Amino acid sequence: MSSFPSEQPLLNNTDDFDQQHLWHPYASLPPAYPNLVIDRAEGVYIITQDGTRLIDGMSSWWASVHGYNHPVLNAAIRAQLDKMAHVMFGGLTHQPAIDLGKKLLDIVPAGLDAIFYADSGSIAVEVALKMALQYQIARGYGHKKQFASTRSGYYGDTWHAMSVCDPVTGMHSLYGRQLPMQHFIDAPPLGFSRPLETAEREQVTAFFAEQGADLAAFIIEPIIQGAGGMRFYSPKYLQLVRQLCDDYGVLLIADEIATGFGRSGKLFACEHADICPDIMTIGKALTGGYMSFAATLCTRHVADTIGQSDYPALMHGPTFMGNPLACAVACASVDLIVSYDIPTRTAHMQQLMADMLAPAKDLVGVKEVRCLGAVAVIELVDAVDMPTFQALLLEAGIWVRPFGRLVYIMPPYVISDDELKTLCSALLTVLQHYLTSE
Ligand SMILES: *Cc1c(COP(=O)(O)O)cnc(C)c1O
Repeated sequence: MSSFPSEQPLLNNTDDFDQQHLWHPYASLPPAYPNLVIDRAEGVYIITQDGTRLIDGMSSWWASVHGYNHPVLNAAIRAQLDKMAHVMFGGLTHQPAIDLGKKLLDIVPAGLDAIFYADSGSIAVEVALKMALQYQIARGYGHKKQFASTRSGYYGDTWHAMSVCDPVTGMHSLYGRQLPMQHFIDAPPLGFSRPLETAEREQVTAFFAEQGADLAAFIIEPIIQGAGGMRFYSPKYLQLVRQLCDDYGVLLIADEIATGFGRSGKLFACEHADICPDIMTIGKALTGGYMSFAATLCTRHVADTIGQSDYPALMHGPTFMGNPLACAVACASVDLIVSYDIPTRTAHMQQLMADMLAPAKDLVGVKEVRCLGAVAVIELVDAVDMPTFQALLLEAGIWVRPFGRLVYIMPPYVISDDELKTLCSALLTVLQHYLTSE
């Protein structure tokens, strides 16, 4: 890259109708800068209308872990399409839902035994929260109706999911009293391998001593806090929270929507701490990024407690619950995940990204470079100027979408070493350029 781009590249790949009429995630209408029109995607490449190929560093927000247009996933969805695209799940069931359930119970932390299929991650979290409340009511602890979480968390955008998100980045002040009030403790101390200090341990313990009696559930993203800050924390912290939840009759909800299916280096991030949550949510990579689909799982104890109560029904039922196309493609995706040897694959990606991105540590304006599993994060001192930064990324031929001070990649697991090296070195060049031109 020789010169600083004077204008947004790929400007011929934008659309007027889109800019005037279509909202995009967390964006204004019209947007601050245009969205790129994508024609197709294959493998780790996202291809614009005029044929420009961008290496995907995002896996479309943790989801497209097998890359795009995957022959096995395509075949699974096509085969199901010829049988039926959908039937209602009320009173009916089907083989793809049953097969997927069996496959999931084989790989999730031992202890999880019942599954609710939801239509998106946020809904899976809503169901988890309802499930927790119904559980407490069912066992005669109806006064336990509060939820708690740590700061810097992200659990989705519907009302109750949003209410447990970080109150600052979740814009709680904007929605004011419409949002239920929840309890927050400090974010887990940063650092996967760092021991937990006595004072940190005591702070969490003191919180449970104070609020535990009123809490229905504690929700947390295990090991990796995603959209709320791209932070990695110690398995010791998760073990502590598991213990305290048990001590105070609080259900532990592990939100594995981002971390599940291998992203953290284990199949599920809870495995780092060798714990089983009472309730777990999964989504994003569940269908290999093909469709919106998610699930809420719980232990036999939670399911039975609700099932044997005066109100035995779990009060949720999306129209597209258990969608056969989604289940069929999820079955194929889980089979692929199981075939990868996730610990070896992600350890290799982690090492390669850590090596390639290490020089970023020496750049003025970079605070920290951290990698865990198939995630690499470069935390800057100041928030990036998105139009400028995005233009540099596109010129360099890569698709990476920072937020605030966080520049991060979580590439598809199928990325080759050469492609991963190209992605990392292009990102490094962009950072060097951006930080020295400021
Ligand atoms: C993305 C995400 C959600 C929300 O999922 P949607 O499918 O976008 O509703 C919830 N929790 C975590 C940890 C996530 O990363």
